[in-house]
Amino acid sequence: MSINLDSPIAYLKGVGPKRAELLKEELGIFTVFDLLQHLPFRYEDRSVFYRIADIEVESTAFQFRGKIVKKALVGAKRASRLLAVFHDGVDSLELVWFKGANRILNQLPLNVEVVVYGKPSNYGGKWQLAHPEVEKVEAYENRRGGGFHPVYSTTEKLSSRGLNSSGLARLIRVAVDEVKGEIGETLPDHLLSELRLPRRREAFEEVHLPSSPLEADKALKRLRFEELLYLQLVLLQHKKTVTVDLRGVKFGQVGERFNEFFSKHLPFELTGAQKRVLREIRADMNTGHHMNRLLQGDVGSGKTIVALMSALLAIDNGYQACIMAPTEILSRQHAEGISDLLKEMDIRVEIITGSTKKKDRIPILEGLADGSVNLLIGTHSLIEPSVVFKNLGFAVIDEQHRFGVAQRSKLWAKANPPPHVLVMTATPIPRTLAMTAYGDLDTSVLDELPPGRKEIKTVHRTDGGRLKVMAFVEKQIAEGKQVYMVFPLIEESATLDYKDLMDGYESVSRRFPLPKYRIGIVHGKMKPADKDIEMKRFVRGESQILVATTVIEVGVNVPNATLMIIESSERFGLSQMHQLRGRVGRGGDQSYCILMTKDEFSKEARRRLETMCRTNDGFVIAEVDMEIRGPGDILGTQQSGLPDLKMADLLRDRDLMTTARYMAQRVLEEDPSIELPVHKTLRVNLDRIKKDRPNWSRIS
Ligand code: ADP
Ligand code: MG
Repeated sequence: MSINLDSPIAYLKGVGPKRAELLKEELGIFTVFDLLQHLPFRYEDRSVFYRIADIEVESTAFQFRGKIVKKALVGAKRASRLLAVFHDGVDSLELVWFKGANRILNQLPLNVEVVVYGKPSNYGGKWQLAHPEVEKVEAYENRRGGGFHPVYSTTEKLSSRGLNSSGLARLIRVAVDEVKGEIGETLPDHLLSELRLPRRREAFEEVHLPSSPLEADKALKRLRFEELLYLQLVLLQHKKTVTVDLRGVKFGQVGERFNEFFSKHLPFELTGAQKRVLREIRADMNTGHHMNRLLQGDVGSGKTIVALMSALLAIDNGYQACIMAPTEILSRQHAEGISDLLKEMDIRVEIITGSTKKKDRIPILEGLADGSVNLLIGTHSLIEPSVVFKNLGFAVIDEQHRFGVAQRSKLWAKANPPPHVLVMTATPIPRTLAMTAYGDLDTSVLDELPPGRKEIKTVHRTDGGRLKVMAFVEKQIAEGKQVYMVFPLIEESATLDYKDLMDGYESVSRRFPLPKYRIGIVHGKMKPADKDIEMKRFVRGESQILVATTVIEVGVNVPNATLMIIESSERFGLSQMHQLRGRVGRGGDQSYCILMTKDEFSKEARRRLETMCRTNDGFVIAEVDMEIRGPGDILGTQQSGLPDLKMADLLRDRDLMTTARYMAQRVLEEDPSIELPVHKTLRVNLDRIKKDRPNWSRIS
């Protein structure tokens, strides 16, 4: 029976039902085409042959040429293993298999020229190769590229069934042979020639049966690019349906309130970046289409004022606005700060959080329904069904990484047409990731800090340096500054962490005793009201040190705080530390961050600490974070709407992604519905891909 690209993998010669099941489970390979898309992750040069006599130490793998002169199963049933003697014309060594001995016994060619590849180990004074790769010289020589081998990722289970890298290679070669005639082109000719990419059929052949390092590399690039291009086409088309194709309220005028605020109440000059972003937002809100924009700005870059002034635009046009923040503390702070900025203006600002009492809620809800509340601030409580707006025109979601996709869609349902949405995040996302996970959002970047900000000096100290650190704390306080001291709090060890926190609090209290010093403490187990009291004290400067868990991570603004001490910092993630550090350096004074650790910590922790000490740039930190944790983890599990990619990789193929984005944009600009004859290939494949990969269009 002949097979095709879509045939179940079990139909491929050499697979069978058991291996097919394993391939599905272990690698997600269902069809022959899935197998072809399992690309090598590197290539190995196997053109050099050694003599057995060349082996000196146990180290890397060697390749030999010779004959197997003897083979036999030895040992009783369970302990049975396959032993073979390999002779290179001068010397001989032993080959041994502990797994799959029976199967291999039959396959092992006797007395014909073979190529043997494996890692020598010294066994009782003699060299031995355990589980070597064996191939007839004839096959080795007939394959193009000869000694240039693809290496595939595989798993323990697959390897034990003979599907290690070379086992997979064998299968894949069979598959390529059988179906290559069917592999059709998916990229238009003009793109292929512009980007100098090989054709698809050749590319698949080349990656699996490489002829040279250079050609294989080009072929890999071609296949990965193709996948990314289609991904970007899907995302950009989706973006169009949620913006251009979707009616949005039009904020035609820059009205009284915006102008009044700008000329009379704005407490500082806007940075160039803030002005630019405001222009981008204004332009978006004036098109009659729906705005869906991501604002990325490092901690302290001044996102709040951008949100507020955009809200004024909505209010000036007769609409309501809301700002949603992830925590109670942060909502309060926004509400207080914004009310203060607007105090001389005729704008009604209200706040709703989880702890807003029913009796306080009622008048607010009434005000929302009759339109007298202009701006609502709050936690996710404000997307509850009971909160009904008269005409919500604009919604800000602050610190988006804590808001799920489902919540965003609830927000959409609050008005018809849905409100313009501005998503703000201080956890910069690497650019290529933003293009993917938030591929359907427009992005703005606040890449400039307000003037006068100084780099936060960051150092790493171990417990041995604690006395000096405390002396520094004392000095800062003597200068009238305030200090944060943050402890980790991680679910699994919550009790232990809690003890650490309390111990820390006590020892600091002893070192900085009342009445001269006052130390606050904030943690997740406290009642919101108590937390609030402590926070307020610190904000008002009544306490000099705030001992806390990461509850203060996002947004909190106390410009007089100049020192952030992160305890057990080896346990913090990069973006979390960066967020925490962003709590200081918010005024004009030189600020500091001290990363405390034990004497020993992991290599990854070291990389994080070094990165923190080296840079204050959130975007640089985000890139390193992505390298350490991988793209999925940095978006968080809650909403990691990452596409399933078979050939490309978000981390490795960052540059290709940028090219793919650009090319996809260009295609859609020329031909928004992808209907021109030159794009026929794209059209056909796009339709197929949307069916095959529904997850691509559901991202974000
Ligand atoms: P984030 O982007 O981290 O949310 P905020 O909006 O909280 O930053 O702003 C941080 C601090 O910088 C606030 O105290 C704010 O008043 C101040 N700020 C914002 N923009 C400017 C500016 N253009 N000039 C001076 N200070 C500014
Ligand atoms: Mg903020």
